[in-house]
Amino acid sequence: MDTICAISTAYGQGGIAVLRVSGDRALAVVNSLFVGRRPLLEAPAYSVLHGSICRGDELLDEVLLTVFRAPHSYTGEDVVEIACHGSLYIQQEMLRWLVDAGCRMARPGEFTQRAFLSGKMDLTRAEAVADLIASQSRAEKDLALSQLRGSVSSRIAQLRDRLLHLTSLLELELDFADHEELEFADRDQLRSLADEIVDTLRSLTDSFRTGNAIRHGVPVAIVGAPNAGKSTLLNALLGEERAIVSDISGTTRDTVEDTLLIDGVLFRLVDTAGIHHTDDHLEQLGIERSLEAARRAQIVLEVIDATSPVFDPRFADDPRVLRVWNKCDLQPRANSHEQIAISAKTGEIQPLRDELARRATQTYDRSAVMISNARHYEALLRALEAIQRVQQGMNDGLSGELLSMDLQDCLSALGEVTGQITSQDVLNNIFSKFCIGK
Ligand code: GDP
Repeated sequence: MDTICAISTAYGQGGIAVLRVSGDRALAVVNSLFVGRRPLLEAPAYSVLHGSICRGDELLDEVLLTVFRAPHSYTGEDVVEIACHGSLYIQQEMLRWLVDAGCRMARPGEFTQRAFLSGKMDLTRAEAVADLIASQSRAEKDLALSQLRGSVSSRIAQLRDRLLHLTSLLELELDFADHEELEFADRDQLRSLADEIVDTLRSLTDSFRTGNAIRHGVPVAIVGAPNAGKSTLLNALLGEERAIVSDISGTTRDTVEDTLLIDGVLFRLVDTAGIHHTDDHLEQLGIERSLEAARRAQIVLEVIDATSPVFDPRFADDPRVLRVWNKCDLQPRANSHEQIAISAKTGEIQPLRDELARRATQTYDRSAVMISNARHYEALLRALEAIQRVQQGMNDGLSGELLSMDLQDCLSALGEVTGQITSQDVLNNIFSKFCIGK
């Protein structure tokens, strides 16, 4: 395989920059440019060497090299990481010199793709690397890190191993098809395994809603009558003039979205047009959109003007609703302990922030195995359908041959999640979303 190189640190000037070189010739290529006290080619694994990068008389920079030897490296190949001074010129030249010396520029995610291809990590863990790099909140980081450490893949590997065992027994029956009385695969055992797998797959697919919310932000819709103070509240939460505030009813015609971090959890706030009856066509569209936003939200903030309270009957018994009593600077007596009393205009919104943080920790269980990737979700749903067909098939007394087909479907869907079964297109699609140098 080609020896590849890339700048792994973010584009731009910095204190230092790190370039990565991976492949059979990694040490040889870097060695052709390196002058140091200790010889690079004899450097033991996990050692750091100080020296300079030179070509003939031209000195490019003083560097530190970190040496990793196959298979004990990120990619599973020989890897040299070059830490140089973070000048843009030095970084670009270093890259050019490496290419001149025989490396190829790495494609996005190619280091991680090699880690996957060399069996260092399965696909769920490789994908978690990209999520970890993109994470913007503690919750998102924790989730990606737990997936990187194998929370999802080990759960799926366990399921696959047990399914494989039973499938092989069922297939043995097919080999002895003339002896119909032979049942190597104990049907009770198969039934209880199928039940167990259904439970596990259900809990994994159910976790997608929360996992997805953590990744993209817990969706929060702000609803309430016109002029209740929704836009003012959004601004107060975000600490900036994000939505248009006005005294004229119905000025927030469109929905406005932004994100907010509270206690390490990302929230995605959607301000909505005031929900009320109107004949104005444009406004009507805005209202429909806000009802849709409220339907999709995990938390619905119903803003009530304490000076003239109006409640929306549509949200009366909705457990997602958090009733927020606004304008308490004008109507302090509305404050009672079960209500969240705030004043969006004066910025007194701490009780609401506290409650949002409390709800977030409720939705987010740090120890739970959660999926957050739509590709995994879709494949796990297919696995679930297949195993449910196995359950049904057993109830209907289907032959081992037919059961085995559904079991195979389930196995292959699980294999797609971890990447045991995959295609070049799928891999290209996954790794093209990575940054270069990872
Ligand atoms: P929306 O239609 O629900 O988005 O309401 P706006 O945020 O546009 O607010 C309507 C009016 O109420 C504006 O004049 C705001 O300044 C005012 N307002 C909003 N929140 C408060 C508050 O907490 N106290 C007071 N006194 N006025 C507020």
